[in-house]
Amino acid sequence: MAGASRFGLLINTAIMKPIELSFEFFPPKTAEGVEKLRATRAQLLMHKPRFVSVTFGAGGSTQQGTLDTVAEIAKEGVDAAPHLSCIGATRDSLRDILSQYRSHGIRHIVALRGDLPSGMGEMGELRYASDLVAFIREETGDAFHIEVAGYPEYHPQARSPRHDLEAFAQKVKAGADSAITQYFFNADAYFRFVEDAKKLGVDIPIVPGIMPITNYSQLMRFSEMCGAEVPRWVAKRLESFGDDRESIRAFGLDVVTDLCRRLVDAGAPGLHFYTLNTAGATKAICERLAL
Ligand code: FAD
Repeated sequence: MAGASRFGLLINTAIMKPIELSFEFFPPKTAEGVEKLRATRAQLLMHKPRFVSVTFGAGGSTQQGTLDTVAEIAKEGVDAAPHLSCIGATRDSLRDILSQYRSHGIRHIVALRGDLPSGMGEMGELRYASDLVAFIREETGDAFHIEVAGYPEYHPQARSPRHDLEAFAQKVKAGADSAITQYFFNADAYFRFVEDAKKLGVDIPIVPGIMPITNYSQLMRFSEMCGAEVPRWVAKRLESFGDDRESIRAFGLDVVTDLCRRLVDAGAPGLHFYTLNTAGATKAICERLAL
C-alpha cells in the first residue's frame, strides 16, 4: 500500500521506503534541443529523482551526444546514467567509452544489447546484454552501478517467454544491480514477471518503465516496434479523440496515473519515466501521485 508521509512524499508502506523516481532522456541533436532538455530537467529535478538516464544510439550514433548530456547533468550534481549498447561494438571501443564515462565521474550505467540500425551489418564482439554486463564487471570491477532491461511482455525476438526470463536472470547473474522494464500498460504482466524472476533467483529491484501517453500515433508506432501491448480499450479511446490533443492528454494521464498507483501499491520499488525530453505529462503524473 502507498501512503503520503507528512512531508508529502509518497511512501510505499509495503516496504516503508519512499518511491524512487528516475527519468530517461535522449541526447538532443540541436542547440534548440539542448535548451529544451535543460528546461525539461529544471522542471523534473524538483521531484528529486534517484537518477536520470540518457539513451545511446546502438552502433554508437549518439556516442558523443550521450557523453555530453550525462557530463552536463553530472556537473549539476545529479546521478546521471548513460545507456550503453554492445551491438556493433568492439571490446576496445566499449573500453574507451567506459573510460570516458569514468573520467567524467559517471558511476551508473544502463547496459543493453541494442538493436542494429538498418544498413549496419556487423554484430560486434559481444552478443547479448549479459556479455556486456560481464565485460563491464571484468574491466571496471564495482566502479559502476549497472542497470539492465527487463521485458514483462517479453522481448519481441525472444525464443520463448521462459527463455527470455532465463536471459534476464543471466544478466543479473553477470553482475547487474537493478533493472528497468520496457513500458507496459498491463500491471499484471509486471507482477508476474517480478514473481517469475524471483523464482529464478533474481533478487535485485525491478523498476517498472512508464510511458506517459500524449500522442496516439506515436504510441502505437513505438509499441509496435518494442513489443509493448496497448490494450484495445485504451487504443480505441485514444483513436476516437482524433486530433483532440487535450482529450488524449487527459485520458492518457488518467490511465497512466492509475497504472502507477497500482504498481506502487503492490510494492514496485520505483518508477522510471520515459520522458521523451518533455516534462508536462511526467510531471503531471508525479504531482497526482504526490511524488
Ligand atoms: P538482451 O538482454 O541481450 O536480449 C535481447 C534478446 O536476446 C532477447 O530476445 C533475449 O531473450 C535474447 N537473449 C539474451 N541472452 C541470450 C542468450 N544467451 N541466448 C539466446 N538468446 C538470448 N536501445 C537502444 O538502442 N538504446 C538505448 O539507450 C536503449 N535503452 C533502453 C532502456 C530500457 C530500460 C529498455 C527496456 C530498452 C532500451 N533499449 C535501448 C532497447 C533495447 O536495446 C532493445 O530492446 C534490444 O532489442 C534488446 O536489448 P537488451 O539489452 O534487452 O538485450
